[in-house]
Amino acid sequence: MKLLSITSLATILFILSCDTTSKKDEGKISKTAQTQEVEKKKEELQKPEPTDPKDTEVWSPKPPVVSINPITAIPSDAIVLFDGTNLDAWKSKNDGDTPKWTINPNGSMTVKDKTGDIMTKENFGSIQLHLEWRSDPNNTQTNQNRSNSGVFFQGLYEVQILNNNDNDTYVNGMVGAIYKQKSPLAMAAKPTGEWNVYDIVFHAPEFNETGKRTKAGTLTVFLNNVLIQDHFELEGSTEYIGFPKNNAHGDGPIILQDHGDMSGVGYRNIWVRKL
Ligand code: MG
Repeated sequence: MKLLSITSLATILFILSCDTTSKKDEGKISKTAQTQEVEKKKEELQKPEPTDPKDTEVWSPKPPVVSINPITAIPSDAIVLFDGTNLDAWKSKNDGDTPKWTINPNGSMTVKDKTGDIMTKENFGSIQLHLEWRSDPNNTQTNQNRSNSGVFFQGLYEVQILNNNDNDTYVNGMVGAIYKQKSPLAMAAKPTGEWNVYDIVFHAPEFNETGKRTKAGTLTVFLNNVLIQDHFELEGSTEYIGFPKNNAHGDGPIILQDHGDMSGVGYRNIWVRKL
């Protein structure tokens, strides 16, 4: 009976793999994955069911120890990108110079209008990002012009920052949206002028040697502890006009947006952990 199960499974997967071999590289990848899957299933079927609790215990490798700073709450393995004192981790996207954004006495920084986006000097792959932001109570513009900024992963994938308190806009461009791809699961922003917290997990997309995307990037976003994007598979870059693009790329910078309309958005306490 067990032997029959293995044979049937192997036959089905072999037929599937034959069907895909005509698709050149893609087929080769699928066949390899399917062969591995068959081998794994064979092993599972041949193994007797464990009867001792110890049989299913894993003791190594031990996960690295990460401690939390008791004052700042920053994990010990985090890279601090902004702690209120300087913009050393950043450069201007326009000219590569020191950003002209304003550092405030309260440990925050403010977008300086029309001086351009700022980007990290370091490039990142998959990361966990913590970032705090606030909208400007003096900005009473409407739609996309009320405290519009945003954080871009690998310079291409924007999680929107916008003041949507009593301010309507298209939902796939509102606060917490993955710009023009996915509206947020909830509107969880604080009242205008209060500090908001983004905790975001970004997994970078993968591309093969021919430049074809083999794995979509993903974004999971918490806004003020509320899950607003749940492992969303990116369709490609977040474009203002047109469809998402999937040009092959490697690691890239984190970018903070100067939307160019006196947004007045403030930022503070930005750190990242590499995944
Ligand atoms: Mg934006």
